[in-house]
Amino acid sequence: ISLYEAKKSGKGCYVFWQRDFLKGSTPERVQMESELREAILKDELVLHFQPKVEAQTGKVYAFEALVRWNHPRLGLVYPDRFIGIAEESNLIIELDRWVLNAVVSQLTQWHQSGLPILEVSVNISAAHVTRLGLLDVFRSFLDQYPYLSECLEIELTETAIMADPDQATVVLNKLREWGVKASVDDFGSGYTSLGYLKKLNAHTLKIDRSFIDGITYDVYDRDVAKAIIALASSLSMDVVAEGVETQDQWDLLQAFGCKYLQGYFFSRPQCAQDIESDYLRPLQL
Ligand code: C2E
Ligand code: CA
Ligand code: CA
Ligand code: CA
Repeated sequence: ISLYEAKKSGKGCYVFWQRDFLKGSTPERVQMESELREAILKDELVLHFQPKVEAQTGKVYAFEALVRWNHPRLGLVYPDRFIGIAEESNLIIELDRWVLNAVVSQLTQWHQSGLPILEVSVNISAAHVTRLGLLDVFRSFLDQYPYLSECLEIELTETAIMADPDQATVVLNKLREWGVKASVDDFGSGYTSLGYLKKLNAHTLKIDRSFIDGITYDVYDRDVAKAIIALASSLSMDVVAEGVETQDQWDLLQAFGCKYLQGYFFSRPQCAQDIESDYLRPLQL
């Protein structure tokens, strides 16, 4: 049902879905779907983590978890190729759950080996928000590991929120009550009503990468980015610019008052081991 809604709004992740759908023949897609189902059971998925940094200092303060599929024949497959298929087939619920479990066990492992713990955000799909169950999953994790409420966050795209804004509002407010922060992902690419934005009580806006791309040469992109930063500030929300690839973009965003940044300029998503050796161990010293 939620996918149908996403279709109607015609933006964001649905575009990927449509593209993949049209590219592959139906049998290929069906095969991909059943392989993915098995991959989840066989733990063929892996998590990478991309740092988020403070604009002023370039210091890493958090990570975003991004899933990859370590496919036996195709090698490392990126989510744009399979999230759409998963979303279309409800497999996305199992996939999101796999990711949540994997993030929690990674955090627990770091925690237990005495490493400093930074915030980790997890992408949650529309289907998972509109169905009940997400809150139960979070509740049981938090009961088991109370420290998680300080470091576990969720990212929800604008499109996912607007698929069922009332339900998204309920879920985000509950999570906030439990201490779990939420970001509105890909902000500016969809059509969130400002009325909902306030009611959602999300902690952070993530400026969609498409605006950051043109920020140094396109007046429109620059104005949109500035407007989002101003909006976040007037709603007392944090703001992260994603897809920062150059020093010039960094300088401009910092001048506009954007406090947090993420992008290849700072780091590509990396496997857990590299995150541990590059960022967590040095913090320990
Ligand atoms: P997203 O949530 O907007 O994630 C950001 C994407 O932009 C990631 O691609 C990241 O690698 C990429 N990126 C980061 N910095 C830069 C940059 O400076 N330049 C460029 N060109 N790209 C950058 P990735 O990992 O391929 O993920 C694509 C999308 O797949 C994500 O977009 C998210 O919507 C979805 N996704 C990824 N992991 C998960 C997951 O665990 N669960 C769900 N439901 N969706 C996921
Ligand atoms: Ca995201
Ligand atoms: Ca994003
Ligand atoms: Ca996206």
